[in-house]
Amino acid sequence: MPGEFDLIRKYFSGHDDGSRIELGIGDDCALLKLRRDESLAITTDTLNEGIHFFKDTDPYLLGYRSLLVNLSDLAAMGADPKAFTLSLSLPEATDSFLKPFAKGLFELADEEGCSLIGGNTSKGSLSITISAYGVSCTDTLRRSGAKSGDGIYVTGFLGLCALYVEACYGRLKIDKSLLSSLCYKSMHQQCRCAFAKELCDLGYSHCAIDISDGIVGDLGHILECSNVGADLWLDKLPLAKELHTLVNDEQKRLELAAFGGCDYELLFTLPAETEDDVMDLCEEHDVPVTKVGIITSSQELRLFNHGKIVRPAAKPFEHF
Ligand code: ADP
Ligand code: MG
Repeated sequence: MPGEFDLIRKYFSGHDDGSRIELGIGDDCALLKLRRDESLAITTDTLNEGIHFFKDTDPYLLGYRSLLVNLSDLAAMGADPKAFTLSLSLPEATDSFLKPFAKGLFELADEEGCSLIGGNTSKGSLSITISAYGVSCTDTLRRSGAKSGDGIYVTGFLGLCALYVEACYGRLKIDKSLLSSLCYKSMHQQCRCAFAKELCDLGYSHCAIDISDGIVGDLGHILECSNVGADLWLDKLPLAKELHTLVNDEQKRLELAAFGGCDYELLFTLPAETEDDVMDLCEEHDVPVTKVGIITSSQELRLFNHGKIVRPAAKPFEHF
């Protein structure tokens, strides 16, 4: 069976003639040209019960999270969110589900000035699909924009969602009373759109991806699209503080932060001369940012831990 990305390449890529599409399949969003200096960034993501979230997850968190994962893709292009559609498949239309779901959804939508403009509702297994639309300047952040010598940076902290999932499956022994706060923190991430839009509009960065499949896998997409290599410093990864307090084994902590999915933080690259300006921007937006490596011309991804090359056994996440 082909993997997720081979499947997309084999069956769905290569069918647009490129005349109206500025950027098609292969990045965090597609881009349609609007006017000379503006593009419409479009993305879609589905959350399925049993695959992307556990049965009986708090509907408020599902509402928030289903929009967040889409806005995260807009952030990865530096696009300003404008509108979204919602396709909802539900086993039963109960007030006890829909009221908190809508509360979480509109909490984020209102915060980001992103309007619900349509959708579809049907009976079926619980599945939530959102398509989101944003406006960007034509010089967007792209997976293909990394250059040898750029620094590699990540916003926020990593590994919390992976920690929560491992704990739910019982693969990590964690006090059950901590699970609901872990669930809340790992699903209620900050939206990075405003920060990313300035990063892009001010011309500080040309390359980003959001971390949905673990930093190692997602950095791999940047390297492939930009035709470059990288040194990633595992000991510099900003680990969520719960990894330090709840996971004793250093190896396991690194594995969760480097290969765990669903962090929805922004991974971006910067030429050395914009680093100081970007650190000011981070303070303005109150966004923690950490330098975690460097882009190289070597064509390979090398992982370092305290200066030594390591070859971890874990693999980046794919759905198939
Ligand atoms: P992301 O994690 O940023 O949402 P994915 O890894 O899911 O992106 O997908 C990689 C690329 O493949 C994206 O450009 C996405 O739009 C595209 N893609 C995914 N599934 C399909 C599909 N069924 N048909 C066409 N394009 C797809
Ligand atoms: Mg993405």
